[in-house]
Amino acid sequence: MKKVNIVGAGLSGSEAAWQLASRGVEVEIFEIRDENRKTFAHRTADFAELVCSNSLRSDDVKTAVGLLHQEMRELNSLIMRSADANCVPAGSALAVDREGFSKFIEAELLATKKVKISRREISELPIDSNETWIIATGPLTSDALGKSILQNSGEEHLAFFDAIAPIIYKDSIDFSKAWFQSRYDKGNGTDYINCPLTREQYYDFVDELIRAEKTEFKEWEKDTPYFDGCLPIEVMAERGVDTLRHGPMKPVGLTNPHFPKSPEGTKHKDRPEKAYAVVQLRQDNKIGTLYNMVGFQTKMKYGEQQRIFKKIVGLENAEFARLGGIHRNTFINSPKLLDNFLRFKKSSNILFSGQVTGVEGYVESAAMGLLAGIFVASDFKVTTPNPKTAIGALLNHITVGHEGLDFQPMNVNFGLFENLEEKTKKTDRKEAYSKRALSELAQWKTQL
Ligand SMILES: Cc1cc2nc3c(=O)[nH]c(=O)nc-3n(C[C@H](O)[C@H](O)[C@H](O)COP(=O)(O)OP(=O)(O)OC[C@H]3O[C@@H](n4cnc5c(N)ncnc54)[C@H](O)[C@@H]3O)c2cc1C
Repeated sequence: MKKVNIVGAGLSGSEAAWQLASRGVEVEIFEIRDENRKTFAHRTADFAELVCSNSLRSDDVKTAVGLLHQEMRELNSLIMRSADANCVPAGSALAVDREGFSKFIEAELLATKKVKISRREISELPIDSNETWIIATGPLTSDALGKSILQNSGEEHLAFFDAIAPIIYKDSIDFSKAWFQSRYDKGNGTDYINCPLTREQYYDFVDELIRAEKTEFKEWEKDTPYFDGCLPIEVMAERGVDTLRHGPMKPVGLTNPHFPKSPEGTKHKDRPEKAYAVVQLRQDNKIGTLYNMVGFQTKMKYGEQQRIFKKIVGLENAEFARLGGIHRNTFINSPKLLDNFLRFKKSSNILFSGQVTGVEGYVESAAMGLLAGIFVASDFKVTTPNPKTAIGALLNHITVGHEGLDFQPMNVNFGLFENLEEKTKKTDRKEAYSKRALSELAQWKTQL
């Protein structure tokens, strides 16, 4: 096989390079960072630099990310081998000595004698090249390359910021209080879940939002163009006590079926079936296990989000697949732009991998690099991994599994997995997901 070009020596690019090189494929990695040039967040020129925390999160196989670790180990992941070799004490989490972690990866890649590193920026998407390229430039993709991706994908398909509203497991919502309905009964009637608030609950809620502890924007994130179209809810709350009620929490076109209909002529404010404000949740994945809180992007601290959002009627016991956030983050609309093998539909010699595809996190980014490497090395002869595996569920989510237009980055979580075939007690479900995943992965691996 001809040489493969990888843009970005981060978590994803390094893992993709390893999967290729360990199968005998020559790789050239292009990396913008060198002794003089860095990104906003990277401090070194090292391979796979961890830009913030030194933790790869839980290593417990009964968590979705712990399961992803295990699957990656089974698939000979270099990132996981380095993490295991450089781990530091961190309870059930897998944390690493960050310098040792990066150096190990670099040494292993260079030892293959198949990997060459060229320290320069790739500023244009190599759309006319007849070589194979993997774009793994991450959340801080350089401006020039970002512009070129934009030109080739269309403005609506590239984001420079994520504005994530919390995502909730449907089965943790209390449907004795919440209900399914689209405004004015448009759509099929089950498009949204509605959580009603009384006047008093609404004003308490607004007050909590204003008083909540927030996270700060970093210096290089401050001029976010995002602010024009997509305000955090707490900022909306600060603008006026009724702003949310006229915005994402407007109660119009909805009737709460948990209350009997008031007689004709009853004033709106006296009709209990007409809430004072409503929080809506919209389906977030095709299999319908996850719902996002519509318009609830937020910079509140995680603990505050959990505390305050659980005050919403129907969400008292909500379990969050992910909490909200707003960050500088370049990512493409993968479900629209990529095929099942991470290939750019417009030019199939280009693949995207890592955080730029809309997965979120060190491990998830490396996992997509791992798949990109395997797909290319096999000349796309392998099947894609079963979505019952963690790695397959993640791939499935960013290629075909995400519902609707508002694609936002996602960590791996059990909400992305197909439901279990057999009825399983809630307390045993995570273990059952893991067992099923590892057995599916073992089957998939036989073709590699
Ligand atoms: C400030 C910040 C903090 C974060 N904290 C965490 C955290 O604590 N935990 C976590 O799990 N995730 C965190 N993330 C997300 C994290 O960045 C990703 O999970 C992970 O690093 C992404 O891996 P990647 O390989 O896709 O991108 P990266 O690891 O960023 O690698 C991309 C590489 O491409 C290079 N590059 C960019 N443009 C070009 C170009 N045009 N030509 C050549 N090279 C280029 C970059 O220099 C970089 O080396 C954080 C992200 C940011 C921005």
